[in-house]
Amino acid sequence: MYDVCIAGAGVAGATLAREAARKGLKVLLVDKSRQEKVGDKVCGDALGSHHLERLRLTLPSETYFSIYPGIEIYSPDMHTCLSVVAEGLSAYALNRLEFGQFLLKLALDAGCEFKPETQARGLIVEQGCVKGVRLVGKNGVKQDVYAKVTVDATGASRVLSRELQKVGFDQELDDDETLVCYREILETRTTPPLPAIYLDMDEAPGGYFWVFPEGEGRVNAGLGVAKGSANPKLLFRKWVDKLPCLKDNIVGVVHRGGGIVPARRPIDSAVWNGFIAVGDAAFMVNPLHGGGIGSSMTGGFLAAKVVAEALERGCVDEESLWGFNTEYMRSYGFKQASLDVFRVFLQGLNNELINYGLAQGLIKSGDLLEASMGGSLRLNITEKASRFFAGIGKPGFLMKLNRTVKLMEDFRQFYVDYPPHRWFDEWRIKVRGFHKRVHEEVGRAS
Ligand SMILES: Cc1cc2nc3c(=O)[nH]c(=O)nc-3n(C[C@H](O)[C@H](O)[C@H](O)COP(=O)(O)OP(=O)(O)OC[C@H]3O[C@@H](n4cnc5c(N)ncnc54)[C@H](O)[C@@H]3O)c2cc1C
Repeated sequence: MYDVCIAGAGVAGATLAREAARKGLKVLLVDKSRQEKVGDKVCGDALGSHHLERLRLTLPSETYFSIYPGIEIYSPDMHTCLSVVAEGLSAYALNRLEFGQFLLKLALDAGCEFKPETQARGLIVEQGCVKGVRLVGKNGVKQDVYAKVTVDATGASRVLSRELQKVGFDQELDDDETLVCYREILETRTTPPLPAIYLDMDEAPGGYFWVFPEGEGRVNAGLGVAKGSANPKLLFRKWVDKLPCLKDNIVGVVHRGGGIVPARRPIDSAVWNGFIAVGDAAFMVNPLHGGGIGSSMTGGFLAAKVVAEALERGCVDEESLWGFNTEYMRSYGFKQASLDVFRVFLQGLNNELINYGLAQGLIKSGDLLEASMGGSLRLNITEKASRFFAGIGKPGFLMKLNRTVKLMEDFRQFYVDYPPHRWFDEWRIKVRGFHKRVHEEVGRAS
């Protein structure tokens, strides 16, 4: 019997495996991929250095292409560009495969056992508690593995969490919370100096287009759109024809593919009896920019701590694992919740309003950075801007923006005050009601 069995050796699963093994636990990590392919994920490959600092992780040079001091954000009409840069902050353009291999090696070096080419197919549930996982290995060989705690780290597919839907564990993603992405890695003649994000509610509805340089002569470009709004692959070609940094600049395609990002607040609770979900499987993604590598690693790190403590106490029921919810919500989840309100507001805007808002400087780049880092948004509403929006017949826009900021603060506090296990049902009802109100008051329908 293992102490912990983790399905999925992505950034969340590998981090958890390493930390748990370092604490002396008997850990099994499984992944459906071949060992040399672990880490090979369709991704934007960008990671803020602050995540690594928090985890005290230093990256070897082969795990990244370059480091950037910031990012540019363009308005739909391209007339306004916010340069989001701050002293001491930087972003890594990761070599995603090498980065994944590095995390896996750390886990293996810490003593975790690894089974590649092994799919988690289902949970073993006995007497209201998860007791392990049903695996299918190479050549279809089936195996049941028992563990004191089983972890779903299978990413956006949430293979194991979905099974617990009948006990109220898993939550479905709404379409507006699901970013459907298409991405290509391109060889280019010249490379833009900074990563860039392009907003456009017509050509990247509910999301954005990105161009992230990966060293000299290579860019990672793609877009995410709200599910059901458009076909991202078709829109991708339009962007390539439109953007000067891509048009007539591409010499080859290194890789192309798609993926899903769960862009929303975290799952209400990520634990059940003998069970934890981490990373994308527990919606641990920044809903504003869709980045989930750093927060998923944080999730893995915190989960290992809570599991080790629970095992030491000799009990792994839902209440004993509850500390994972509390710790995650207070370290990152509160920020996701607050930014989720802003996402709902943004998705309800059209290009005209985004153009005006950015041109009027309603949100400065420093404030945007602060919001992305801490979940609180400061506005810069001047008399001139008020007159301007009244003049274009949108006086209600600023009120809605102000309301958004207030709701962000309130929602943030809900998660900072994450409840003990016994008050969860009450909290969950309030959160769902609050989320509904956010849509009604500042979303598309408002
Ligand atoms: C197009 C795109 C662009 C993105 N860009 C960025 C970005 O620039 N920066 C950022 O921070 N985040 C980005 N993200 C999000 C980020 O990739 C995820 O949030 C992060 O990888 C989540 O980590 P994870 O470990 O939960 O899941 P994953 O990294 O997806 O890992 C899941 C692992 O589980 C394995 N697995 C799946 N099913 C099974 C099964 N049944 N049995 C066994 N193993 C299984 C998979 O093989 C995989 O190794 C992007 C996502 C997409 C789709």
